[in-house]
Amino acid sequence: MADIETDYLVVGAGAAGLAFTDALVAASDAHVVVVDRRTEPGGHWNDAYPFVRLHQPSAYYGVTSLELGAGSIDTTGPNAGFYERATAAELRSYFQRALAHLLDTERVRFLGGFDHSGGGDGHHTVTALATGESTTVTVRRRLVDATYLETSIPATHTPSFAVGDGVRFGPVNELGEVPDADGFTIIGGGKTSMDACSWLLDAGVPADAIRWIRPRDSWLLDRRFAQPLDQLATTMDGQALQLEAAAEAATVPELFERLEATGQLVRLDPAVEPSMYHCATLSQVEIDQLRQITDVVRLGHVHAIEADRIRLAQGDLPTGSGQVHVDCSAYGLRRAAARPIFEPGRISPQPVRMCQPTFNAAVVGHVEATYHDDDTRNRLCPPNRYPNAATDWLTNTATSQAAQNLWGEDDELTRWMESNRLNTARGLRSRLDEPAMVDAVTRMIVHAEPAVANLTRLVAGGARA
Ligand SMILES: Cc1cc2nc3c(=O)[nH]c(=O)nc-3n(C[C@H](O)[C@H](O)[C@H](O)COP(=O)(O)OP(=O)(O)OC[C@H]3O[C@@H](n4cnc5c(N)ncnc54)[C@H](O)[C@@H]3O)c2cc1C
Repeated sequence: MADIETDYLVVGAGAAGLAFTDALVAASDAHVVVVDRRTEPGGHWNDAYPFVRLHQPSAYYGVTSLELGAGSIDTTGPNAGFYERATAAELRSYFQRALAHLLDTERVRFLGGFDHSGGGDGHHTVTALATGESTTVTVRRRLVDATYLETSIPATHTPSFAVGDGVRFGPVNELGEVPDADGFTIIGGGKTSMDACSWLLDAGVPADAIRWIRPRDSWLLDRRFAQPLDQLATTMDGQALQLEAAAEAATVPELFERLEATGQLVRLDPAVEPSMYHCATLSQVEIDQLRQITDVVRLGHVHAIEADRIRLAQGDLPTGSGQVHVDCSAYGLRRAAARPIFEPGRISPQPVRMCQPTFNAAVVGHVEATYHDDDTRNRLCPPNRYPNAATDWLTNTATSQAAQNLWGEDDELTRWMESNRLNTARGLRSRLDEPAMVDAVTRMIVHAEPAVANLTRLVAGGARA
């Protein structure tokens, strides 16, 4: 292939790379080359387990220029009453269409099955994985590293523990059909493990046949407060409750008590204080279902699975050939160190608003095209590292809200967000005739700046003024 010259080289055609490219192309005349090792767009969704769904509504996931789903409300199942959530198959097909839409602009070129194998000074090498042939891409503006937070999933990661010969062990993907087994040992405490447990229960596996190795318990988000459009007032009420708690709590324990009391954070086991927070979002129906599983093992991380025992950080567990061990231990969201999003010759898309990768990538693409110096761009887009520990809720909320406060002062960004489908709060202004919305927004405005100040104090270990 002949050498290529372009404005931007986007590495990674996952959700983040495509959401960035879509927003950039919409707001500029830029030419973009998107490269991915995978031959298809959509990143990790190409290797997702068969029963996965978005944990948030489809209505605000994907790329700005293309709706995902029909915006319908589910009438049955654990998501009844809430906006629909796409399956992995729907997401793969969606990202194909999103890419086709970008290619139609004739300003975007996709190199699927190519590895970005290095570069600098505006010259990068991409290598065709099928042939080993390398091509130089000369980049006039910037490299966009949409792999900086590449997702890790069970199907493609290497577990951090040894698995003995003959042990029945596999990634969650192998649960496409319920295998014949005496019992199931689920390994991991994140959203994937929750999905695996729900799926087994839905398939008729008794709760007492499921043993759940949960090294850490997690704070969860209630999907009721993550709804857009016609249910946005409830979401905004949730935001107001969070900001009130953040502004007024005198201590960190009091903050978490208030967040739980108002339904803003939820835990599976009321007797165990969660130490983890990954923005996992569930409905109350799913939470109640998962509470049926009482054989929860809290002995730390798995070190090895042998034929007759599982070795964990704080003890051993018996196991045997009748047990199917389900790997849900991949870390999911990558917590790479925060770095400036805009740097000379380089953009590293990262979250700004807590945990919304596609919205954030679109914000970064739009800000790149619309503002003309990196100081302004970086001021509008402070990196907000994915949360891991429970207390990361504080720094994540403070960073999100501080950015939101700045965005609110910027007419251009406010206009863009009001109509952007990836913004949970899109259309907010047009709903200000709803009394519940006015009430929520008023409380949010009152508490927005005090919340940032109080959270900053709490993070620093200071007392409330
Ligand atoms: C089960 C699951 C459910 C989720 N549900 C939600 C949800 O409901 N809402 C939400 O907002 N988020 C959700 N997430 C988070 C999810 O990770 C993001 O939404 C998003 O899909 C991440 O996209 P990405 O582009 O950052 O990463 P990826 O999907 O990992 O894409 C990165 C791409 O970069 C490519 N790549 C890496 N290195 C190179 C290289 N050197 N050269 C070329 N290509 C390279 C990879 O092949 C890959 O395709 C979920 C995650 C998981 C695992």
